[in-house]
Amino acid sequence: MGRRRITDSDGSRVMTQLHGIPASPGIVTGTTYLFQHKQVHISDAPIAAGDTAAELQRFLDGRARAEAQIHAVHAKALVTLGASEAEVFEGHIELLNDAAIESEVRHQIEHHLICAEKAVHVVMEQNAADMDALDDAYMRERAADLRDIGRRLLYCVAGVELADIGAITTPVVVVADDLAPSETAQMDRSNILGFVTAAGGGTSHVAIMARSMEIPAVVGCGDALTAVTGGESVVLDGSAGVVIASPDEEVRQSYRAKLAEQQREAQSLAALKDLPAETTDGHRVELCANIGTDSDVAAALQYGAEGVGLYRTEFLFMDKPAMPDEQEQFVAYRSVAEAMGERGVIVRTIDIGGDKGLDYLDAPSELNPFLGWRAIRICFDTPELLHTQLRALLRAGAFGKLRVMFPMVIALEEIRRLRAQVATVMEQLRDQNLAFDPRIEIGVMIETPAAAVLASHLAKEVDFFSIGTNDLTQYTLAVDRGNERIAPLYDPFHPAVLHLIQRVIDAAHAEGKWVGMCGELAGDERAAVLLLGMGLDEFSMSAPSITRVKRAIRATSLSRARVLAERALTLGTSAEILAILETECPSSSSSG
Ligand code: PEP
Ligand code: MG
Repeated sequence: MGRRRITDSDGSRVMTQLHGIPASPGIVTGTTYLFQHKQVHISDAPIAAGDTAAELQRFLDGRARAEAQIHAVHAKALVTLGASEAEVFEGHIELLNDAAIESEVRHQIEHHLICAEKAVHVVMEQNAADMDALDDAYMRERAADLRDIGRRLLYCVAGVELADIGAITTPVVVVADDLAPSETAQMDRSNILGFVTAAGGGTSHVAIMARSMEIPAVVGCGDALTAVTGGESVVLDGSAGVVIASPDEEVRQSYRAKLAEQQREAQSLAALKDLPAETTDGHRVELCANIGTDSDVAAALQYGAEGVGLYRTEFLFMDKPAMPDEQEQFVAYRSVAEAMGERGVIVRTIDIGGDKGLDYLDAPSELNPFLGWRAIRICFDTPELLHTQLRALLRAGAFGKLRVMFPMVIALEEIRRLRAQVATVMEQLRDQNLAFDPRIEIGVMIETPAAAVLASHLAKEVDFFSIGTNDLTQYTLAVDRGNERIAPLYDPFHPAVLHLIQRVIDAAHAEGKWVGMCGELAGDERAAVLLLGMGLDEFSMSAPSITRVKRAIRATSLSRARVLAERALTLGTSAEILAILETECPSSSSSG
């Protein structure tokens, strides 16, 4: 995204500073390793008509080799990433063996008389380009998967070894044009200190995997990355999205200090892991983790989560050719319930739509997807979807402490319809003699202004609320949460958002119900004391944020937090609110 070359007074090059997209946090220093693949020669020369059968056989043999390699990638990913994330490679094997792809390759060889390599290249690239053309972030990720498979297939057909990132045996910072998900899964954390790529975005599979593997990473540096060579010393700051090659002594020293500070802080935060989130005057709140798949449970426990405040189940429905059936869902929910044991798990029913699509769901393209067919709206129109999920979820509830939560609610009638569906499913399970949790708690996300304004009515009909500030902010301020151009307007500290939050908390408490928050604001250290003072009972966030928020809560008293919150809510701008938060809670002023 940007490069600054800093030169010596005599004009010779000293260091290169690149700005990319922060993909996975943390600072590392090391030596660069250029990760590149050998070129495969793709001949344009026509083949003889009598050679088509042999070329087709070369394709089939190469495909068998590629399949064996992907099986090995899958086996390794099971260990490094966990079952859910490894599933993507099962999908790769299905795509590789797709009958339509085989018949397209056959057609290319037989009708265009081209060699197997060229046929594979043409077919895979055409399919990936078709997906790219759909102008949908999710489909672009699928196109990347297809190119990943296509490249492996091409190399296997040509009999050329793919560069193997898993074979790197000394600690390095990998520099690559792009990395495929299958390559990220092969990374050995002790040798891949961090990585930087020219391509990619912050929500690509590669970035998501890096975060879950806790490998610092910067992506999307663009052509500027060509300025970095192999064997250079480098500083990579995954939190800031900065890469500095051949840093001078001053930069080295400043990063050494930052690194030492990062390590000291990590140690002091780790010491808080098993301590309660309790204020100095004895008020306790609950700190939980947000998870997307069962493999995130390990990090939740590692950072001392007291429960799961948001399990985004839609990830279970993605990367699949068809809807997961009841048994598959049941196994996934049960595994989280069992792993969390006595700790509660809030399972949110599928929140698809907006920026998240499903291949197999026939959804029309919409002018305003975030205001469109999303979450429970889809469930009402596709009863089987919710019915199956509720059956799986209620049954899994017999194996732990699950709670059900519905997203995108705007009206009381919706809650009544949803509760009626839960009652129907319970009746059915009872008739079938299947074990389930008959007392499962039912809550809703408060993430629309309508739900926040109606909170006193909604609170009478549910067991709990969880405030989704990500959507509540976008809908309250009319600012698309994914639009980079208006990103500075997206502000959860805006007084309008904070007043709605206060209203929701008060409404829940007036009915004797507890209220949590699972939007990103809950994990923002700067907001911790404010939300505490506003009366929030539970904070749910990405696991690594838990100890920071705990530190802020343990450093204050409830009475002090209440005074701060009361004062903050008298102010008319978020700048004034942030200013008093920084003065009152200096420990958090450096973050965010
Ligand atoms: C939210 O909107 O705050 C939330 C937690 O849900 P999601 O980010 O999945 O929309
Ligand atoms: Mg939301």
